[in-house]
Amino acid sequence: MKRTGSGREAGAPPPGASAADSPPTPRPPADPERLLVELRILYPDPRCELEYSTPFELLVATILSAQCTDVRVNQVTADLFRKCRTPEAFLALSQEELEQEIHSTGFFRNKAKNILGACRRILEAYGGQVPDSMEELLTLPGVARKTANVVLGNIFGKAEGIAVDTHVQRLSRLLGLTSETDPVRIERELMALFPREEWTNLSHRLILHGRRVCAARRPDCPRCALNSLCPSARDLPVGAGSEQ
Ligand code: SF4
Repeated sequence: MKRTGSGREAGAPPPGASAADSPPTPRPPADPERLLVELRILYPDPRCELEYSTPFELLVATILSAQCTDVRVNQVTADLFRKCRTPEAFLALSQEELEQEIHSTGFFRNKAKNILGACRRILEAYGGQVPDSMEELLTLPGVARKTANVVLGNIFGKAEGIAVDTHVQRLSRLLGLTSETDPVRIERELMALFPREEWTNLSHRLILHGRRVCAARRPDCPRCALNSLCPSARDLPVGAGSEQ
């Protein structure tokens, strides 16, 4: 049976004392090995939820996913990729036309500018193919480590780092894996905690958990399977543990 906030050993008062006598001892950070075990059970077959059929499409979809949900990006790209599937086809659009196509993903001016810039660079420097190294991907406009990690991990099977999006950022902090706020520093700390072969799926799994259970505004701690190892689990009302 999973331990819940109501059954927390760490906060139990010593014999003869009441709970009010001493503040509960904070839980330690989540143990990376136990966390991996739990996440594997919860999300046995994780995958990127963006829809794409080529490396170039994943690159574009990932650029569009900044500050936007994958569901919305998939709605937009369903139409967009019917019309444009290659860097050449994108460059046949004007900046304004592309802005209109991607308007609902937010930050559409910057995204359109970056996508067109990336298309030009892919054609001029990489023979029309999405490059397969971190160093080269980072030369594309609009591509930082998160996007590069998504492309490298999902397309080329290369784990050069861990894609740190807003969910990974939040979950890593809640689970006590890092106290950093900068995504690059968070990535570095996670890379030191988890084996390389887990990096790509760790990102997928934390993103899925952030979407399904540990939402930014209302983390569902009583029903969270990570509750027993999460230092941020909220105390549960008496009896709530029986739901687990
Ligand atoms: S839902 Fe609660 S217990 Fe689960 S990971 Fe988020 S903060 Fe921790």
